[in-house]
Amino acid sequence: MRTIEHWIDGVATPGQSIRTSPVFDPATGETVAAVGLSEPADVEAAVLAAAKAGQSWCEQSPVARARVFFAFRQLLHARADELAATISAEHGKTLADARGEVQRGLEVVEFACGIPHLAKGEYSDTVAGGVDAYSWRQPLGVVAGITPFNFPVMVPMWMHPIAIVTGNTFVLKPSELDPSASLLVARLYAEAGLPAGVFNVVQGDRVAVEAIIDHPDVAAVSFVGSTAVARLVHRRASATGKRVQALGGAKNHAVVLPDADLDLVAAELTGAAYGSAGQRCMAVSVVVAVGEVADPLVARLAERAAAVRVGPASDPASEMGPLVSAAALQRVHGYLAGAAGAGARVMVDGRELTVPGRGRGFFVGPSLVDHVSSTAAVYTDEVFGPVLAVVRVASLTEAIDLVNANPYGNGVAVFTGSGATARRFARQVRVGMVGINVPIPVPMAFHSFGGWKDSLFGDSGVHGMEGVRFYTRAKTVTARWPLDGVARTGLHFPVAR
Ligand code: NAD
Repeated sequence: MRTIEHWIDGVATPGQSIRTSPVFDPATGETVAAVGLSEPADVEAAVLAAAKAGQSWCEQSPVARARVFFAFRQLLHARADELAATISAEHGKTLADARGEVQRGLEVVEFACGIPHLAKGEYSDTVAGGVDAYSWRQPLGVVAGITPFNFPVMVPMWMHPIAIVTGNTFVLKPSELDPSASLLVARLYAEAGLPAGVFNVVQGDRVAVEAIIDHPDVAAVSFVGSTAVARLVHRRASATGKRVQALGGAKNHAVVLPDADLDLVAAELTGAAYGSAGQRCMAVSVVVAVGEVADPLVARLAERAAAVRVGPASDPASEMGPLVSAAALQRVHGYLAGAAGAGARVMVDGRELTVPGRGRGFFVGPSLVDHVSSTAAVYTDEVFGPVLAVVRVASLTEAIDLVNANPYGNGVAVFTGSGATARRFARQVRVGMVGINVPIPVPMAFHSFGGWKDSLFGDSGVHGMEGVRFYTRAKTVTARWPLDGVARTGLHFPVAR
């Protein structure tokens, strides 16, 4: 059985791991590898390597650092298919979907290539007689990323390119469910010329996470995962004085107004709800049907859900793959069973799906549940599977109130033909990322990604300028040249003259 290792100080290593966790092919349910789970000693080794490498990495010019990223970008581009195949093999998503993920990660790398411009400081001439002031941002030191299974390449790439290009060194703790992609990324970094120790991977579980959070030499922690763990990570890392951003779960609504083009909406929502088997933090999981739109919209959605081709990533005809694990499959089955019991109508039931020859794979088909109440578990909880719930409301005001009352605030979309309605919606909705006739409004790399409420703990989103600011801190110098030996101030507070 293949063992998936860590990447510390420029080499793959089994480290001190004594525990392992099985890695599955979700399409067959078979165990394909075992991943070593880090002990605190492995985290210690990675942080030590990162701290050592940081001493010279932060002295490199931004131009020199950016050049490594130009090379890294070329390698990612050239090896995108290999990366996508690595993702699909352990996650289960289709190859086309995995390629899309690689592309969105690569765009953060492209953003990072612009760091010499993005990290320019500010200079004020003559703030007082003979005195100038200037500010710029310096790296924090060793920073860490803890990431979920659903985007094993893209989500870490929200973090490490920006952290590293701004002069920090990085320790990544990827999900133990699909750990291989991070090792390939580490190899590509090395090939691009990144010095050993600047990017490290410690595989593992909670033990590794806690060792990272508690390590005194880790200056900042970026986390992406479920809300329960995000809250824990934010609390614990903040208590140790670290800078922390912890992105949590989601319940993304799509509000559909009667003046929307229903054929277009149904096509868009089918992709947004069932792509990656609903395992996207920006997946649409609730349709809020306003007024008379409900019946014709549900009919169109049901038709499309039933037509989605479900199969393994290895079949190019597959539009949707399996869930990531047996536990996820059990969870989704549970919500579908509960929904029917809670008075909703299961219009398309993914539990009935069979994928020929894939008896033990973690497959469940696209599911559509109508007449869902705002108290039903299938509405209140993040199902994280291909289940689309329809909540019927009478007005736009009711729709906005519903979205705003939901504890999550990651993404939301409105479908309408009216600019005035869209504008009102975008201004009044309490959600971090809003789509207008766009179902999955994932911001481009040069904007920042981040939700509100229980979808993000901390002050900064990832990538864009919020990412640059998160991984750097400001320093301001006030300087007077030449020294002429004349004291300018008495005991009063200095003021500009
Ligand atoms: P998860 O919370 O189970 O795991 C995330 C990471 O935390 C993993 O590296 C895991 O090993 C670690 N972890 C798990 N339990 C832990 C514990 N008790 N203590 C310390 N560390 C722990 O999430 P997941 O199932 O891998 O990913 C799916 C979740 O991630 C969904 O809730 C999804 O919405 C969310 N997500 C959010 C965003 C976003 O941008 N807000 C993006 C992607 C995924």
